[in-house]
Amino acid sequence: MSAFTGTLGLLALAPFELVPYLGIVVASVLGGLVIFWAFAGWYHWAYYVRRAHDPEQWKCQPRRFLRPGQNREAALLSTMNLTIGGVISGTMIDLIRRGMPTPIYFEVERWGWAWTIVSPVLLFLMVDAAAYYSHRALHGKWAFRHIHRWHHRYIATTPFVTIAMHPAEFLFFQACTFVPLFVLPVHYVGAIAVFIYVLVYNIVDHSGIKLASWFPWQAHTQTHDDHHAHFHVNFGQHLTLWDRLHGTARRGDRRYGVDVFGGKGAPIAGARGDDAA
Ligand SMILES: [Zn+2]
Ligand SMILES: [Zn+2]
Repeated sequence: MSAFTGTLGLLALAPFELVPYLGIVVASVLGGLVIFWAFAGWYHWAYYVRRAHDPEQWKCQPRRFLRPGQNREAALLSTMNLTIGGVISGTMIDLIRRGMPTPIYFEVERWGWAWTIVSPVLLFLMVDAAAYYSHRALHGKWAFRHIHRWHHRYIATTPFVTIAMHPAEFLFFQACTFVPLFVLPVHYVGAIAVFIYVLVYNIVDHSGIKLASWFPWQAHTQTHDDHHAHFHVNFGQHLTLWDRLHGTARRGDRRYGVDVFGGKGAPIAGARGDDAA
């Protein structure tokens, strides 16, 4: 991915431009961490602390909780991955600033207002499609058992689980979601808004709290919570479109589980998992 070649290119220029580069990287890392800890901290305090006595009222899985040690481990892993992500994003921003060829643009006049408004919507669709297909690929037998299982250790999620995953998986996701930035002309403010939206709703979707969004296109938190509870189903991140398109949305008349691969479940009665492998 370009981050690697980008880093190499940066090293060649480092002695001349190290201070502004470090400034951009620190701002990029802090931006992600502040958003993550502000939202995760808020949901933790407002529900897991203040409403710990009535989980039936608000929790997607009211009888299942992470142990405090697991929650701390998830928070640490998320923080580590987000820091890596901030360094990569900051490096990319710095390389773009120095003239790396990219379709991202800075003056609205270049593509006009209509495209400036429409293109972030297209970017969102591309990023969400990339998230669906890359996530679904991680649910193949080998990738799931060796890599994606890290994230699925947390059957009942909390906001701190959001980016608690194998670092290789995090880099894979980040590469997949950055690809559209190299093919779609989009104003930088629109691109930043899309990636902030993606991070915030990832936190919301891992909150473990029953929450419907103000945005009609955004899936209910139960959708991704069910993904953690039932494993190989509901691979979509924000839109349910891709799961509905491919028949991988959870159905009440199928059974799911850690050994039922394929995304479509297995028959409930007398099932041998024959159509699930
Ligand atoms: Zn998964
Ligand atoms: Zn998840």
